Amino acid sequence: MVPLIVTVAAVGAELTPEQTPHLPLTPEQLGETAALCQAAGAAMIHVHCRQDDGRNTSDPERFRQALEAIRASSDLIVQFTTGGAIGMTVAERAGPLRLRPEMATLTCGTVNFGDDVFENSFPIMRGILAEIVRYGVRPELEIFDAGHLSNAKRLAAEGLLSLPAHVDFVLGVPGGLDASVRNLSYLVDQLPAGCTWSVAGIGRDQLPLATVAIAMGGHVRVGLEDNIYYSKGRLARNDELVARVVRIATELGRPAATPAQARELLGLPGPEGASPLRSTGGPAREVGAAARASQRGDLPV
Ligand SMILES: [Zn+2]
Repeated sequence: MVPLIVTVAAVGAELTPEQTPHLPLTPEQLGETAALCQAAGAAMIHVHCRQDDGRNTSDPERFRQALEAIRASSDLIVQFTTGGAIGMTVAERAGPLRLRPEMATLTCGTVNFGDDVFENSFPIMRGILAEIVRYGVRPELEIFDAGHLSNAKRLAAEGLLSLPAHVDFVLGVPGGLDASVRNLSYLVDQLPAGCTWSVAGIGRDQLPLATVAIAMGGHVRVGLEDNIYYSKGRLARNDELVARVVRIATELGRPAATPAQARELLGLPGPEGASPLRSTGGPAREVGAAARASQRGDLPV
């Protein structure tokens, strides 16, 4: 069977050190986490960055330090978030793309996120996608709800998005589609031909949905961003969550993909194709008119 690509979403934007002591908040900690998770069987790391005080940031310099640390300690595919925080402009959310990570997320629609709204209007999506294309980064389409797949198809029809693409179903966010086997099965049925996919179940749904995805031939995302517990009441480390899903996959006849195998499966040329870390000059241009400036709390994805 096709090797399993395990992505670790190690920190996210919202968790605090009070919730779990295992968050990799600094670039150095991200580097250490990358090494441990690669040893446990991960092939990709999904990256958010924090300031020294733990707050979420889209500062390209912080992302440069993180990229450097991860590349120094591992061979993982590096995937940046473009989720930013509520109120950030497109330029802020897309700023780290100038570092040319191999992949970056493109959230394919607005979604309620607890009591907040994670806004991804078409102008915002077009703006972020333009920057993804500009820097030669491969998008991963983040799908929180069934309509988000329709939005992705619309972006493709507009000629902005190349399909097939790699898709990640994020299921179980309060405000998004529930995490269930039927919902996952429905979404996979709606995929454009040739797309690869993974699933990120939130909280207690992480492990069951990952197991289903392994059996279905998909890929998985695990990690503290989506789930901080190993079992009820017992906090997890990122590498433990990776190791557990790799053990299950191995039993089911799907060995974990190495980073090199994952690049082959995803058609990625490798980090050599990315420009060196020095290319931080110049602000990313503002794209689209929809960047809002409301001042609200931190956000996602
Ligand atoms: Zn994320």
